[in-house]
Amino acid sequence: MPETEQRSINSGKRMIAVIGAGIIGISIAWRLARSGERVLLIDPLAPGSATSFGNAGHIASEQIFPLASPETMLAAPRLLFGRNSPMHIRPGYAHRIAPWLLKFAWASRPSAYRRGIEALLSLQRKSLESMRALCADAGLSELLRTQGHLVVAESEKSLPALDAKRLALARHGIEAVPLAPEEAVARAPFLKRGIAGALLLPRTGHVLNPHSLCTGLHQRYSEAGGQTLRARIERIEILDNGGGDGGFVLWHEAGQIKADKLVLAAGAWSAPLARQLGHAVPLDTERGYHVTAEGAPNLGGIAVESHERRIIVTPMDCGLRITGIVEFGGLDLPPNPRRHEDLKRHLRELAPEMELGNLSEWMGFRPSLPDMLPVIGHPPANPNAIFAFGHQHLGLTLSAITADIVSALVAGRTPPVDLRPFRPDRF
Ligand SMILES: Cc1cc2nc3c(=O)[nH]c(=O)nc-3n(C[C@H](O)[C@H](O)[C@H](O)COP(=O)(O)OP(=O)(O)OC[C@H]3O[C@@H](n4cnc5c(N)ncnc54)[C@H](O)[C@@H]3O)c2cc1C
Repeated sequence: MPETEQRSINSGKRMIAVIGAGIIGISIAWRLARSGERVLLIDPLAPGSATSFGNAGHIASEQIFPLASPETMLAAPRLLFGRNSPMHIRPGYAHRIAPWLLKFAWASRPSAYRRGIEALLSLQRKSLESMRALCADAGLSELLRTQGHLVVAESEKSLPALDAKRLALARHGIEAVPLAPEEAVARAPFLKRGIAGALLLPRTGHVLNPHSLCTGLHQRYSEAGGQTLRARIERIEILDNGGGDGGFVLWHEAGQIKADKLVLAAGAWSAPLARQLGHAVPLDTERGYHVTAEGAPNLGGIAVESHERRIIVTPMDCGLRITGIVEFGGLDLPPNPRRHEDLKRHLRELAPEMELGNLSEWMGFRPSLPDMLPVIGHPPANPNAIFAFGHQHLGLTLSAITADIVSALVAGRTPPVDLRPFRPDRF
């Protein structure tokens, strides 16, 4: 994997800098390099080693209901203070997250929630097809499985809620097929026997290894002529040539880079750089955890979401992975070991017959705005910059469509999705 210092910053062709080599930045960089642009991807870490490393791998095209919803507000006391809740606030971070939570509450009112559904739908209608095309163009289709996933109810009590979910999805044109327990287990052989019921979401999928998708795309990007710089951008200087088209100087610990255009895709770390480009965005992080049973036998099958536990188990080429939990704790506090213990218990209970082997642990930082929509598009103050961050629980799912949108913006074409709901200045 070539990781080069930028060789020539003045070779005639305009230079596009992409800040952040997570799945969003890599997908964008690959699409741009492939269309013949001169691209420099910048990150202090190896490609795909932050949040995009350890997600559930779920291509969650069915997720059209923003977490900021009247339903979440009603459940908030139970969610935040319940013993086995999937949502937590770290005590040392409560005062820091309070303003974000107030904005979340405001975004949960019914009218905003309905607009949020329409906005997510506009991306999700294209997400799976875009992902298929991205993987095919990059020769990485073997990493993508598109046989859907299951939502299972473990107790009879949950069956009405499962059916309500099916009807709510159907109202928005998303198919969910009820399955008998034994049919569900046939599709996910690692799953325990004795569940109460299941839905098959046939138009979703999963990747066999989110990190391999990142490294594979990065390799294709490099082969297409894209360059990579291992550096943390500390300061962005906007050049003014009098015509508003002066480009940028990006300062890092070892020097500076001149770029004509800039894509900011630094995930949960994007806010300070966005501020330097003129926008204070209320970006915070919903930390999430995974445990991967590296020694579990590979039985194949599709991913399983437990309706009651709010976690997902995905069969991957690196083992059986369980992910979940929303923890408000910012970017600096260490992981809470209890969360990993909770996930291990869930995994043992959901896959009791599996030999799990070594259990590796990980925590990542979902980049989340209070209305649970990403920021995608030009910041009004600077037509040469493009923001592409804040994809919360859906960054993998929406990476390919985000790359399509950014490619269109760079090329001056109309983007495939109306970007007004994703404006950086909407707060
Ligand atoms: C437990 C868990 C499970 C998840 N499951 C799913 C799932 O199944 N499906 C799904 O679609 N999504 C899922 N997600 C969400 C998804 O992983 C994220 O939305 C996605 O990874 C965000 O990608 P990103 O490229 O924006 O950020 P990241 O992958 O975090 O990358 C951002 C990069 O920017 C770099 N950076 C930061 N600051 C700078 C700087 N100043 N200069 C240069 N570079 C910088 C960082 O080093 C990092 O490499 C999950 C998340 C978690 C935590």
